[in-house]
Amino acid sequence: TTTHTPTIRWEKSDDGIVILTLDDPNHSANTMNADYVASLDTALEQLTAEFDSVTGVILTSAKTTFVAGGDLNEILSHTDDDAAQISAHVARLKAQLRTLETYGRPVVAALNGAALGGGLEIALATHHRVLADVRGAVVGFPEVGLGLLPGGGGIVRSVRMLGIAVAIGEVLTTNRRFRPQEALAAGLVDEVVSTVDGLVPAARAWILSNPDARQPWDRPGHTIPGGAPSDPRIAATIPAYPATLRKTLKGVALPAPRAILAAAIEGADVDFETAEVIETRYFVSLATSRVAKNLITTFFDLRAVNAGASRPVGFEVEPPSRIGVLGAGMMGAGIAYVSAKAGLDVVLKDVSIEAAERGRQYSARLVEKDVDRGRSTAEQGAALLARIRPTADPADFSGVDFVIEAVFESVELKQAVFQEIQNVVRPDSVLGSNTSTLPITTLAEGVERSADFIGIHFFSPVDRMPLVEIITGRETSERTLARAFDFARQIGKSPIVVNDSRGFFTSRVIMTFLNEAVAALGEGVDPASIEQAGLQAGYPAGPLQLLDELTLTLPRRVRDEATAATSRTGDARTPHGADAVIDRMIDEFDRPGRSSGRGFYEYDENGRRTRLWPGLRKAYPAGRANVPFDDLKERMLFAEAIETVKCFDEGVLRSAADANVGSLLGIGFPAWTGGVVQYVESYPGGIAGFVDRARELSARYGERFAPPDSLVERAGTSI
Ligand code: NAD
Repeated sequence: TTTHTPTIRWEKSDDGIVILTLDDPNHSANTMNADYVASLDTALEQLTAEFDSVTGVILTSAKTTFVAGGDLNEILSHTDDDAAQISAHVARLKAQLRTLETYGRPVVAALNGAALGGGLEIALATHHRVLADVRGAVVGFPEVGLGLLPGGGGIVRSVRMLGIAVAIGEVLTTNRRFRPQEALAAGLVDEVVSTVDGLVPAARAWILSNPDARQPWDRPGHTIPGGAPSDPRIAATIPAYPATLRKTLKGVALPAPRAILAAAIEGADVDFETAEVIETRYFVSLATSRVAKNLITTFFDLRAVNAGASRPVGFEVEPPSRIGVLGAGMMGAGIAYVSAKAGLDVVLKDVSIEAAERGRQYSARLVEKDVDRGRSTAEQGAALLARIRPTADPADFSGVDFVIEAVFESVELKQAVFQEIQNVVRPDSVLGSNTSTLPITTLAEGVERSADFIGIHFFSPVDRMPLVEIITGRETSERTLARAFDFARQIGKSPIVVNDSRGFFTSRVIMTFLNEAVAALGEGVDPASIEQAGLQAGYPAGPLQLLDELTLTLPRRVRDEATAATSRTGDARTPHGADAVIDRMIDEFDRPGRSSGRGFYEYDENGRRTRLWPGLRKAYPAGRANVPFDDLKERMLFAEAIETVKCFDEGVLRSAADANVGSLLGIGFPAWTGGVVQYVESYPGGIAGFVDRARELSARYGERFAPPDSLVERAGTSI
């Protein structure tokens, strides 16, 4: 047998109360690792041995959080072959908690900080939960967001405590974190104290006045609040659950919410022990699944990205003090808002003071909403607005040490507005452009200090989209990159870093997805099927709907620019099946998209989408093409994946984490995939399986699906 490091301290006071303090000496947080299991076994043995002199048990932690839950690295390493072992491990965790709650003396959880996932499961296996209302104190079940379910009795106990409707609808499938007062209101904790020091006295007092504490479900005659599934009133509502879930998850049938639903309902009509076995079975199926690994990878990727994996090391840079935003349109106004919200002073310039004022008004509207909803105070809102200074005068850029330009998408105009301010701003000011397609190196040719020039690409709407794509031009310095990166973090965004190329990474890759859908239309696939394929593949919106939002002139402009660029270099752009459809939509039918009220869809006078334009089916009679539905879905996913591989081949992308995070947060690549690189790597059969399928699609639908050589090489070595 292996020896384990003790992670639980035992202290017994004169009144017979045992305090068990979780304090893993090897890690910054307590997790339910092997040391924890062994230590809890030891503690339970000692409790049994000293039963007669024990009056109660308090469970607490010496870390800033209570318990962080299971070890995600362990789950990442699981394969199907590990099912029996995972099952045994989970059964053991459950048995320990069951022993604790049926010990025969009151047991209290003194929660000194976050108790999420496994931490909350431990807490639910006690008779009374006291939570300190301190910074970072939250409880909840984040498992669903990782493609998992609470497998330590969390479903069984929350259903028995809160009832099926509340447990499923508010706690288990929502990924919601409850602050102390919310946790109290929801019934997840029983008591809130204002300081960590107040925890043990409160726990002690409760133990002394509740010597016969027992779990409600261990009392004779306990019934599930609101009723069990066999209760006709509950039975009548259950068939609606999957549909409701589908709606809240926007049509994406992710396996975890469905497994949670099944475990909760199946477990509610049987005894506690059987319910635990059911929960374990569903847990194991998720813990070995592709989707859980993908979502856990996202968790780690996001952490790496935000921690600065792509930031050059060794540059201690001052955060900006005054931001200058050029162009107060949709993007400029949004950038001004998020900057001011992060406490930065912003000069917001447009061609006229009126236009600049309108940009500031955008912030005023967002502030008003925040104040109305109680998300900020009137004072905070006023202070935010006071930090934005609208102007039409370049001289007001004096003192600015960080510029972001967001004027119309034109090289000449962009170069001109930089010329106006480059000698007004501080001499070391960062010169950033929010262009979504123009080469950064070309734009940088218009300024004197090209080393300070960089692309800082935001997504619309700026206040809600968490991604920033940072683009380095040929001359951009490492120091400028470090400053742009830190700025993005300062305003709370996740920054990915890419090298200059037409469309960078995100715009370039999303275009292949849209083109694929449009090409299918031209082949005679019914437009409703195309939209369904996109949604069922997991995209947040149908591709035709999305292209309507972006306007159809965008792919045409991108195509024209690419054609112009390739004609200079000599290699011709390969024509795409989407080209002719786009041209017809614009030139023949005059339906360029939502902004003109006419696109693939029809729109009412308020700009609301009403239905697919019936003319579409006449122009492209459906049924001519025989494209299997799975092919349709995978054409979209593969088109983006293969373009991403090309971005790596060309040195546009530098890291898989950046590609994954960028595709998920920026361009709606389906969440279940873990991002565009993870999609390739986790494809059934691995990279070799992906390559085989790409060849199949290539034979059926065109050369663009041919797997790039770099991928074929990796396929050979990855099996
Ligand atoms: P917009 O048309 O809403 O705003 C452009 C603004 O620039 C207008 O207010 C215009 O008056 C102003 N402007 C024009 N000439 C100017 C000058 N000489 N000095 C100062 N201001 C001037 O456009 P937008 O959607 O905000 O896009 C701006 C930039 O952001 C473009 O480069 C675009 O490609 C890029 N971008 C847009 C999106 C998006 O979803 N709209 C996303 C990412 C990046």
